[in-house]
Amino acid sequence: MSQIHFFYGTVSSAKSAELLTKAHYMESIGKRIVCLKPSDVRDGDFIRSRAGLARPCINFSDWKKALRPSIEYVFIDEVQFTDSEDLKDLVEYCQDNDISIFAYGLRTSITGDLFPSIGYLMAVATHITENKALCAKCGKRKAIYNVRLNQAGQVDNSGPIVAPGFNYEGRCYNCKNA
Ligand SMILES: [Zn+2]
Repeated sequence: MSQIHFFYGTVSSAKSAELLTKAHYMESIGKRIVCLKPSDVRDGDFIRSRAGLARPCINFSDWKKALRPSIEYVFIDEVQFTDSEDLKDLVEYCQDNDISIFAYGLRTSITGDLFPSIGYLMAVATHITENKALCAKCGKRKAIYNVRLNQAGQVDNSGPIVAPGFNYEGRCYNCKNA
């Protein structure tokens, strides 16, 4: 039976590390899997975790070619950057073909708004798990917000939501503008 497992958390909450660990485990017990990631994010055609794990992946937009009926599990990294209509098509295809989904992503953007794809997954997931992390600034309170830092290390959430060359951090409410 097709299940939809959705994992969300801030930047640096070990989402990619969990994806890679789970994908490795599924393969080790003989499951047929596919790993997808939207192309316009870090690391090109690899899923990498900050802990040092990595594996090749397929561009999310090619999912119709990648998901043959023999596939049992599909893993999606950075799912917040998928097109929500395309994601809906994938989810319905998986439900109809008995493929289970493990999707990992940020809940909100640097503006604090829910990503459209994430709103959809929140609505349809059979299992929702929060990857908890502490605020990268104070190290005390739970990280809820994602902030962008400029070269000087200051919070700078201006400009487009996705911009190369910046660092991102998970912060608590008290530190999100600090
Ligand atoms: Zn804080």
